[in-house]
Amino acid sequence: MDLGITGKRALVCAGSKGLGKGCAEALAAAGVDLVLNARGAEALEATAEAIRTAHGVSVTTMAADITSEAGRAKVLEAAGEIDILVNNAGGPPPGMWHDWERDDFIAALDANMLTPIALIKALVPAMMERGWGRVINITSQSVKAPIPVLGLSNSARAGLTGYVAGTSRQVAEKGVTINNLLPGIHATDRADALDGGVARAEGISIEEARAKRAATIPARRYGTAEEFGATCAFLASQHAGFIVGQNILLDGGATNMTI
Ligand code: NAP
Repeated sequence: MDLGITGKRALVCAGSKGLGKGCAEALAAAGVDLVLNARGAEALEATAEAIRTAHGVSVTTMAADITSEAGRAKVLEAAGEIDILVNNAGGPPPGMWHDWERDDFIAALDANMLTPIALIKALVPAMMERGWGRVINITSQSVKAPIPVLGLSNSARAGLTGYVAGTSRQVAEKGVTINNLLPGIHATDRADALDGGVARAEGISIEEARAKRAATIPARRYGTAEEFGATCAFLASQHAGFIVGQNILLDGGATNMTI
């Protein structure tokens, strides 16, 4: 399927690895030029070069912490005019409901709620003026069904989801869509870190922790960054212009619900 976005320009935040990288690769495969961000320059440059070689698109890199104001300013300066914004950042640490103090919540809100909101506010007005734009926020399955050990994530992502629900309906008339992509468990470094925590807590190997978790998913496997990226590219495509303010769950059926 031709996604109809060749020559568009996307900013993919937190895109050197994992789900962000999956989105960057799928957009590049559709002919989209990229501005790619992550903190670590080495992995960022390696991913950018691999994408240039594989897809022949232009990839501008900006190593910066997207959750800091200074980092965002650097990324936005490098980004210039952006048609497609993929909001992403690392997830908050696990813990229990009684573990966190105000500063922990502020850090989680900064990373997973206020950063995507700041980037939406910075880039959507120009998209509206041009009459076309796409924003895809990587959030989490935890928005639909809370994950007990990820209370900081549950909280911050719920806040972003509320903001998107209202905002997406205010900008849609100008050809700009904002939607959220909700990963269930996907095979990335983040999943390894979470499985490592379970393995240590339960005194089992990481392979056993992974197998136990996979057994709880109707698809009986973890998702891949490639299939996640393909969904992101579709949401960014011309075909997805009537999809507004949705929360699209990619979880292999793990969240047990009817609608
Ligand atoms: P990952 O494999 O650990 O990759 C994270 C990427 O984000 C890396 O490129 C990392 O590079 C970059 N990054 C992290 N913090 C950053 C920051 N402050 N500024 C700029 N770049 C940053 O993680 P993932 O699995 O792709 O997860 C992506 C998001 O989806 C996270 O918010 C995660 O909580 C959420 N999620 C993931 C899953 C899953 O199963 N994988 C499930 C639900 C939700 P640097 O470290 O070099 O900055």
